[in-house]
Amino acid sequence: MFKINKKISKSLGRAGVLITSHGQIQTPAFVAVGTKATVKSLSPEQVASAGSQVVLANTYHLYLEPGEKIIKKAGGLHKFMNWQGPIMTDSGGFQVFSLGAAYGNNLSKFIGTKPLTLEEIKKVYSKKNEEKKAKITEDGVEFKSVIDGSKHFFTPEKSIQIQNNLGADIIFAFDECASPLVSKKYLQESMKRTHCWAERCLKEHRDLSQKKKHFPQALFGIVQGGRYEDLRKKSAKIIGKMDFDGFGIGGSFVKEDMATAVRWVNQILPEEKPRHLLGIGEPIDLILGVENGCDTFDCVAVTRMARNGSLYTKHGKINITNAKYKNLLKPIEKNCGCYTCQNYTTAYLSHLFRAKEMLAASLASIHNIYFLNNLMSQIRKSILENNFFEFKEEFLRIYKAN
Ligand SMILES: [Zn+2]
Repeated sequence: MFKINKKISKSLGRAGVLITSHGQIQTPAFVAVGTKATVKSLSPEQVASAGSQVVLANTYHLYLEPGEKIIKKAGGLHKFMNWQGPIMTDSGGFQVFSLGAAYGNNLSKFIGTKPLTLEEIKKVYSKKNEEKKAKITEDGVEFKSVIDGSKHFFTPEKSIQIQNNLGADIIFAFDECASPLVSKKYLQESMKRTHCWAERCLKEHRDLSQKKKHFPQALFGIVQGGRYEDLRKKSAKIIGKMDFDGFGIGGSFVKEDMATAVRWVNQILPEEKPRHLLGIGEPIDLILGVENGCDTFDCVAVTRMARNGSLYTKHGKINITNAKYKNLLKPIEKNCGCYTCQNYTTAYLSHLFRAKEMLAASLASIHNIYFLNNLMSQIRKSILENNFFEFKEEFLRIYKAN
C-alpha cells in the first residue's frame, strides 16, 4: 500500500507512492480539502488539472448534510461528487470538538494554514469557548450541530460506520482533539481515551470490512499528545503498534515547535507506513513536515485564502485587492503553469475581485492549489535527485512568510 522510493539522507523525509483503491498518490503530496464533497468553486476536472491527486472530505459536515445514507445510496463519495481519484475522509473528531465547543462563535474562521502561536491560541480558545465544550464521556462525544444547534452523539464506532458509508479510500480513527489550553494532566487523560477509541475504531473497521463487498478502505490511526515530548512519544508508541494502515498526526501544535513535535512522532512510527499531517498547509511548514517524515498534508485554508484574494507567489503571499495590482497586465506569477496564470493577467483577476464576480474565487483557488501541488512535486523531485536541502535553502531564501 505504501512504497518508499527514496529517503532524504540524515533526516526522516522520503518520497514514495501511496497506493489506494482509486489510484496512486505520488508523495509527498498536498491534499485539497473538499469539506462538503466539493472543493469550493471548482469542478473535479479543475481540481485535477490544478495537479491534485487526492481530495479530503469532512465526515462531520457530510453527516449533518446531506447525511451519509444518501451518499451511500448514490454509490459512495466518488460517484456522488464525481471525483474518480483517491479520497480521504477525516473522522469528524476535529469538527466535533472545535465547532461543537465554539458553536455560534465561528471558530472555523480562525483555523488557518499554519500552527498558531501561543498568544493566538489564547485568543482563539477563550474561556467562553471552553465552557461550551462538547460533552465527552468514555463512550463518545455529545455535540451540537453547527447548522441548527441540534444534539448529536458520536462514538468511535459511529465515526467508522459513517466513513464506511461515505466510502473514501483512506479514513481516520476517531480521536479527541483537545484544546491547546488544557492542562497536561487533562491531555494525558484525553490521550488515553484516544488510544482506547483507536482500538474500538480498528475493531469496528475489521467487522465492517468483512461484511463489505466493495473496495477496501485504509484506516489511519491518529497520534495526539499536544506539545509535550513525553506525551507525543508515548502516543506514537501506542498508536504505532496498532494494526493501522497508516497514521495521522493531529492535535494542536504551537507554531514555534511544530517541526520538532512531528520529528518526535515520526522517529517512533513504523517507517514503512504512510503518515499524514492534519491541517497544515503553509509552504514553509510543508517543507519542514516533509523533512521530518510526513508524506501527505491537508489544509482547508488554502482555498479559503484564495476566495479572500490572498494568493501564493514564490516571494510570499500577495493580496490581489491591493491597488497596485489594478493595472498589472502580467500573470500573478511569471512561469506559473496553472490555468489562471496561463490565460489571465493580475489586472483581470483584480477586476473580478473588485466586481465581486464568482469567477474570481475559481481562478484564485486554481492558482493557490496549483502552487502547493507544484511545491510538493518539486520537493519530491529534489528528494529523488538527492538535493532536498539545496531546494529547501533556495525556497526559504526567496519566500517571505507573512
Ligand atoms: Zn498560477
